[in-house]
Amino acid sequence: MAEPVQISMPADRDAFVDEKKLLACIHCGLCLPACPTHIISGQEMPSPRGRLYLMRAVDEGRLESSSETFAEHEWSCLVCRACETACPSGVEFGYLMEQTRERLNQVHEPPATKRFIYSKLLNDASKLRALHWASWLASRVGIGAASRAFGPMVQKALPRMGSAMRLFPKRMDPPRHRLPIYKTDQRKIGDVGLLLGCIGDVFTSRINDVTIRVLNRLGYDVHTFPSIVCCGALGIHAGFRNQSLELAKHLMQTVEDSVIDIYISNIAGCGAMLKDYAHLFEGSDKQALAERFRAKTFDISEFLHAKHLDDLASMQLKVHGKVSYHAACHLYHAQKVTDQPLELLRAITGSEVKHLPDNEICCGSAGSYNIEHPIESEQLLERKMKVIEDALAEIVVTGNAGCLMQLQKGVREKRRNVAVMHIVELLDSVIT
Ligand code: SF4
Ligand code: SF4
Repeated sequence: MAEPVQISMPADRDAFVDEKKLLACIHCGLCLPACPTHIISGQEMPSPRGRLYLMRAVDEGRLESSSETFAEHEWSCLVCRACETACPSGVEFGYLMEQTRERLNQVHEPPATKRFIYSKLLNDASKLRALHWASWLASRVGIGAASRAFGPMVQKALPRMGSAMRLFPKRMDPPRHRLPIYKTDQRKIGDVGLLLGCIGDVFTSRINDVTIRVLNRLGYDVHTFPSIVCCGALGIHAGFRNQSLELAKHLMQTVEDSVIDIYISNIAGCGAMLKDYAHLFEGSDKQALAERFRAKTFDISEFLHAKHLDDLASMQLKVHGKVSYHAACHLYHAQKVTDQPLELLRAITGSEVKHLPDNEICCGSAGSYNIEHPIESEQLLERKMKVIEDALAEIVVTGNAGCLMQLQKGVREKRRNVAVMHIVELLDSVIT
């Protein structure tokens, strides 16, 4: 239940968010119809304008930062950044939310499991490898299947655990020893770096395998940089800003010290973080490094579109089934990579491929949102499944591991005959 707003105005208050960015909001409300949590709740507070209002109230000392209302509505945001696309005033909502969540973690210490995940697990290759072995073995001995089957029942008593169980992928590959360089056996045309990532290389490691294979076939040597694990995206959304900035510094410096001038991500959320480094280090002694790094960073679909669109179109590849495209929020809203994947898909399939009709609205995955907010996530997935059914899609292509797992869960549980694939998986399945 909402608590009454407590009025108190400390004499020496510290701004906890960038006030200039906060004051850019003119309260017009144009972002409301674009906001998934406003759409499903119909309320003002779980909307961009409502959340900005709460941030401002805390910033101005009219609301305690320990307020439960404040925490509830700021944590219920998907950080999908659809509001940024809709906003005529250029409000940098994602940036403000990252600062807000850092502050919330200072007021209410996060639980030990959360602290372990964001401070100890995601940046540690050996712990991630142990998780990978454990998850893969679980999938081999039928625990994965049991997890998916009993997840809905468990969810009634233990919502987060049940929701996580339902996401367990049907197919998992065992951990592999990653090489620092995967050399092409074609005529070499260049070197590229690839972010293998943290959780993505556990539950959807085949996307990395396939990306390496496709880039090798196109003539690139692929550098993976063994010391780079996590880009910091998951941590910064969860309010672990300092840890994420440290990961960012290491990643940028490692790429800077290499021969690489093209660095590729195949997960939309990670790619958005890489491109945001320039923003995060603005005004610091890392600004120039971050700007140089930004110029090297591409999403895989953006890179293939820029360099190989004509080659792919001339290959006359054959795809069997009607393809639709689901845009990941962090590709569409955060990176503004909107039409390139569609044009790439048209080149690959030789036929018209369209965005799903409500493409700008999140599928409910949003990092760990589908585990932390299972009910709302389910409502958003339900909407997305209806759109997929209405579009008569046989293959749904996306550019983010989280969306992939979420949509695969939807298709599996509704028993729909729809293949959900990453764009490089589709390409790998038809390219020779
Ligand atoms: S980031 Fe997404 S969920 Fe959060 S306020 Fe903006 S539109 Fe709504
Ligand atoms: S965030 Fe942008 S669109 Fe939303 S109310 Fe503020 S100015 Fe308007």
